[in-house]
Amino acid sequence: MRRIEQLYIDGGFVKPHGTEVAELINPTTEAVIATLILADAEDTRRAIAAAKAALPSFAKSTKEERIAMLKRLNEAVLARTDKLRDITVEEYGGPLSRATWIAQYSSQAFLDAAQTLESYDFVRRMGRSSVVMEPVGVSALIIPWNSVAGTICSKLSMAIAAGCTVVIKPSELGALQAQVVTEALHDAGLPPGVLNVVNGRGDVVGGELAANPDVARISFTGSTAIGKVILHTATETMKRVSLSLSGKSPTIILDDANFAEAVPMALNAAFMNNGQACIAGTRLFVPEKRLPEVIELVEKAVGKMKVGDPHDKETIIGPMANSRHLARVQRYISIGLKEGATLVTGGEGRPEGLDRGYFVKPTVFANVRNEMTIAKEEIFGPVLSILTYRDEEQAVRLANASDYGLHAYVFSSNVPRANAVAARLEAGRVMVNTLQNDALAPFGGYKQSGFGREFGLLGLESFLEPKAIIGD
Ligand code: NAD
Repeated sequence: MRRIEQLYIDGGFVKPHGTEVAELINPTTEAVIATLILADAEDTRRAIAAAKAALPSFAKSTKEERIAMLKRLNEAVLARTDKLRDITVEEYGGPLSRATWIAQYSSQAFLDAAQTLESYDFVRRMGRSSVVMEPVGVSALIIPWNSVAGTICSKLSMAIAAGCTVVIKPSELGALQAQVVTEALHDAGLPPGVLNVVNGRGDVVGGELAANPDVARISFTGSTAIGKVILHTATETMKRVSLSLSGKSPTIILDDANFAEAVPMALNAAFMNNGQACIAGTRLFVPEKRLPEVIELVEKAVGKMKVGDPHDKETIIGPMANSRHLARVQRYISIGLKEGATLVTGGEGRPEGLDRGYFVKPTVFANVRNEMTIAKEEIFGPVLSILTYRDEEQAVRLANASDYGLHAYVFSSNVPRANAVAARLEAGRVMVNTLQNDALAPFGGYKQSGFGREFGLLGLESFLEPKAIIGD
């Protein structure tokens, strides 16, 4: 049994003031694999004070110094790639291929930030003024459980590039992954106080970060419900807030697409990361007349998907990350059935042969209407709804008829036509005939998927405050 009994504050691992103990459970075996001491508000204030004390000198560091730090962070995380992959499989249940990708993506984030920083001008002329982009200040980075290492590294890389000191609050459900990342980050030897990591409950540690007047900026990734709570609290001290929130993203397959390729890609978009992905394409729009063909392709592709032990390299879908979440996904499947959607594959209960672990059957519903609960709410599991459209106009209208607007996917053999559809979609990102991430392009949501952008130039600027110096 592992124990996580320390926080990372002011350049070292320290004993928490908090005493509450939480257990971490392997979602594949349901065994308790670790205990964690949760930090309290006093620990959080200590971390904020360390970040505040380190800020004046770190904010003055040069671009070259910060590029060197980003490269050291990249090397340190890269050196833990295997450990990070293994712990992601064990603690989170991420299938091996996904866990491998996350481990690599985490280290790469620092090189992407270094590349953005290299060509960035912190001083620009605008009108008669010199505009200086200054670090915004102590930044709180709040992390969800479905992408612990990747989100820590991508947010941290931008804060460091900008010259901001940070307090990171990982999800308490991903403490082992956060521990491996923290040990790696420690090896990079940043100045004490620049980086602090406090594991604890959302309302306690996150609540203190959102309220504390010494925190200038909050970069939050998580649910829309909690994003609203944070925004409300942060308004009191006028913090700069960016919110990367929930999604219910549409995938549109246009009638001229190669369906044999597009349908399996649409399924990948829906089921990636065990379906626990904010960017999952969970509403699939297909031409009305082609529904029977789509159903046949879906049955064939899902039939081949291995559900089970995430250590197995053949596995496509591992367990849900925790028992509460499993119950949530099962509840949505039963709502889909009650609302009268047609079950194409999957359904309630465990997949055959898996009597332990938080597994669900990959489930696809057809004849779903946009007003059904399963088409409106984020399920966050391997559950896909197929909806039909008569023409392109209706496809765009239905795709946009959602409270969310994080991501969208368009498949077509005619790229200019697909791009024209993409231009009309209300989403922060639209992927055209691809599922490949672009780590230098902005990432963030329209509507209730949040605001503010991460990654690349706009991600860097979200940690900067412009100051105009006007003088004739
Ligand atoms: P969550 O909102 O429950 O928690 C996210 C983080 O906020 C955790 O660290 C949690 O401890 C903390 N938190 C909880 N209550 C808080 C409070 N009152 N004050 C401050 N912090 C608090 O989300 P989750 O369940 O961890 O993650 C899943 C959700 O995150 C899904 O809705 C998913 O779509 C979303 N998500 C979005 C993105 C994106 O980039 N848009 C990426 C990953 C996940």
